[in-house]
Amino acid sequence: MEKRTFNSIEISKDSILDTIDTTPRRRYKARRGRASNTNWIKPFLLILVLLCLAGGIIFSIVSCSSAKSGTTKQKMQEELAQISALAASYNYDEALALIEASEYAQKDEFLALKQETEQKKAELVPYDGPYYHVFFHSLIIYPELAFDGDYKHEGYDMWMTTVSEFKAMLPQLYERGFILYPLNEVKAEGEILLPPGKKPLIISIDDVNYYGYMKGDGFADKLVINDEGNLACEVTTPTGELITTYDGDVMPILDEFVRAHPDFSFKGAKGVVAVTGYEGVYGYRTVKLEGEEQEKAKAEALKISKKLTETGWLLACHSYTHNDYFRDNNVSMEDLTYDTNRFAERISDLIYNTDIYISPFGYHLPVGDERLQYMKDMGYNIFCPVSPAMRTYKTDEGVLFSERFNLDRYNMRTKKEFINETFFDVDSVYYKG
Ligand SMILES: [Zn+2]
Repeated sequence: MEKRTFNSIEISKDSILDTIDTTPRRRYKARRGRASNTNWIKPFLLILVLLCLAGGIIFSIVSCSSAKSGTTKQKMQEELAQISALAASYNYDEALALIEASEYAQKDEFLALKQETEQKKAELVPYDGPYYHVFFHSLIIYPELAFDGDYKHEGYDMWMTTVSEFKAMLPQLYERGFILYPLNEVKAEGEILLPPGKKPLIISIDDVNYYGYMKGDGFADKLVINDEGNLACEVTTPTGELITTYDGDVMPILDEFVRAHPDFSFKGAKGVVAVTGYEGVYGYRTVKLEGEEQEKAKAEALKISKKLTETGWLLACHSYTHNDYFRDNNVSMEDLTYDTNRFAERISDLIYNTDIYISPFGYHLPVGDERLQYMKDMGYNIFCPVSPAMRTYKTDEGVLFSERFNLDRYNMRTKKEFINETFFDVDSVYYKG
């Protein structure tokens, strides 16, 4: 800006000098007799040049300082936006700390925001009601591909949920006062502080692996980072086109919803992403590839884990094999040991050695069971089985249990009343084809 101002001064100075050089000469030739009368023009024009130069300098100083105050204003607005965003997601202490540290702390806008934030912080109330933990599998993007009459149709129609259904649930959960709460801050006993009228909701997603058997059935292919640096899904459309979209699974859809409704998330919490190991994670076949290809897939998977954890997601183990021996709550100690070790060897590093275990087939373990002690010894402090009771408790082993309820198509059909009362109006959500 400054440079441009000086350039324009030079240009105008040159054109004025051109006038000085040419104009008097032309006049002298044309009106020789009156030459002495034009002698005043040269000093006059010189003064004019000097005035212009001085004006230019003053102008550039003024424009410089106004640019500076523009930058100040912009910086202030940026800080205010950052602080407001923190306060909107209930990060009151962080917001207040930023106000305190700001060079504009004494400006009116900052003082007002400080007062508002302190008031909201004081309004937090102890919550001693239940935690609501619901879960999903990968969402069905194209129902016409999932429900096509083949042997997988029935399973998808029971244990899965469509993108359209999930997107219809969110505004209703939001309206009913649910607020995404971090599973690792759940307390089995004692109260937590929440904004008045809010209920803690934990969302987990099982089998975020995009297994080979699902290919062509209307699900995403894998998780990716898009051009904006956000988590997204890579999806093959019914016509075979490869696209990148947020509308491909729970995580990017929820990310987008929270971007629009920051008050739906307590301190930026989103949910829990659970993976098995036998086909790699997030659609990257880290265990099936070898050599350089494998290293590349691992690096991609790690990028996804990094992005997820940076944006409020927790990661969880959902067993390595998801083997049938986990059905019916009677997995043997031997099988459990084999499976859990395999996960530790091949997957744990890729998901930052999580301490959350989401049991395959939702199997339960009783308090005092040696298998539970084993899981605790293997580093799992949080165990999430399936039970519509959605109880939260801590065992003698020191393991926090967080029972989960499946918001799938089967439950929307068979537990409609419970879902209507508790979460959302099923009829306005359920995909009818
Ligand atoms: Zn599963």
